[in-house]
Amino acid sequence: MQIKRKILLNPGPATTTDTVKLAQIVPDICPREKEFAAQMAALREALVRVVHGGPDQYTAVLFCGSGTLCMDACLSSLLPEGKKALIVNNGAYSARAAEICRYYGLPHTELKLPYDRPATPEAVEQALRAHPETALVYSTHHETGTGLLNPLYELGTLAHRYGAIFVTDTTSSYAMRPLSIAESEIDFCMASAQKGLMGMTGLSFVIGRRDLLEASRTYPRRSYYCNLYRQYACFERTGEMEFTPPVQTVYAAIQAMREYWAEGEAGKWARHTRVMDAIHRGLEALGFRELIQREWQAGLVAAVRCPDDPAWDFERVHDACYRQGFTIYPGKVGSAGTFRLCALGALDVPDLEAFFTVFRAALDECGVSVPVRYCD
Ligand SMILES: *Cc1c(COP(=O)(O)O)cnc(C)c1O
Repeated sequence: MQIKRKILLNPGPATTTDTVKLAQIVPDICPREKEFAAQMAALREALVRVVHGGPDQYTAVLFCGSGTLCMDACLSSLLPEGKKALIVNNGAYSARAAEICRYYGLPHTELKLPYDRPATPEAVEQALRAHPETALVYSTHHETGTGLLNPLYELGTLAHRYGAIFVTDTTSSYAMRPLSIAESEIDFCMASAQKGLMGMTGLSFVIGRRDLLEASRTYPRRSYYCNLYRQYACFERTGEMEFTPPVQTVYAAIQAMREYWAEGEAGKWARHTRVMDAIHRGLEALGFRELIQREWQAGLVAAVRCPDDPAWDFERVHDACYRQGFTIYPGKVGSAGTFRLCALGALDVPDLEAFFTVFRAALDECGVSVPVRYCD
C-alpha cells in the first residue's frame, strides 16, 4: 500500500512511519478480551520505562482522548479537599491548566510569569510561601506555543520541600528529550501517543507514582469520565480502561513503541536535534528571527516572528507549502505575530532541506522580500 508522505511541521500530531499507520489494520477484536488487556499491560510498562521509572513505584494510566484530557484528569483528581493548586503559568498550555482549575472551581493560585523565559524557582518559592495550603504544583515542561523549556528538577524539588506534589505536562517533550521521572523530582507527567511517540491521535496517558494514586482514592471526585484514581483502579483490577479504549490507536502505539526502542532514546533525541538545527539554519538563511532565546528553547519548536513586510500573509504562505505536502503552523502567544516550525515526528534533515526550498518559493510567490525584514 502506498501512502503519500506528508511533512508535518506543526506541533503534533506528528509525521508517522507507514509501519505505524499500517499497525492500525488488525482483525476486529473486542477490547474486553484478555489478549487485548495483555497488549495494554505491556504498553503501560513500556511507557513508564521511557521515563526510566521503576515499575513498582510508577505506573501509566491510559485514557481515550487527546492530551488535554490528562491535564484535566490530573488537576481534577490529585487535589485533596481544602487544598490548593499552584499553576506556574508562562505559556498557553499552563494558561489552559489554570482554565481547567476555573472550570472545576478548584482552589488555585495562578502564578503568571513572562512567557519568553523559563519559570524561576524564586518566583515559585515566593508563591509557595504565600500559599502554605498548596498541595499540588503544576508546570508545563515544554511550552509548545513558544518552544520554551521549564526547569523540572528545580520546580519539583521546591514543590517537595513545601510538601506539595509536582505535576508536569510533558506532552510535547515525552519520548523526545531524554527524561528521568525520579531524577527530575516528578510525581506525575503526561503525554499523548501522537506527539513524541509518533503514534496516532486518541490515546493519552498519565505516568505517576503508585503511592500517590492510592492516596488519591479519598480525594474529591470532580469528574466522572476523567477521574485518575478510578481509571487506575480499573486497570489494576481488570487490566482494562473503564470505558471503550481506542483499539486501533493502541495497536499503532505499540508499534510506535517498538520503533522507539529500535531507534533508542539517544538516537531519537540526536535526530530531533539535527532536525531542529536544520530548522534554525534554514530560518537564519532567510533572515527570520525567533521569539525565544536559543538556550531557553526545548529544542523541538521554533516560534518565528512574522516579518514586518506588508506582503507577509501566513495563510498564503501556508497554502503554498501545503500544496507541496508541507504543513506549517500559526503561533500561539497573545499579540506577538509568530508562526511555528517543529521538529517532532518521523523527519530527518533532508525533509527540512526540501521544506526550505518550498518555503523560499512560497515567499517569492507572495512577494515577501528575502532576507525578510523587521522594523526593530
Ligand atoms: C499538544 C499539547 C497538549 C494537548 O493538546 P490536545 O489538543 O489535547 O492534543 C497539552 N499540553 C501540551 C504542552 C501540548 O503540546
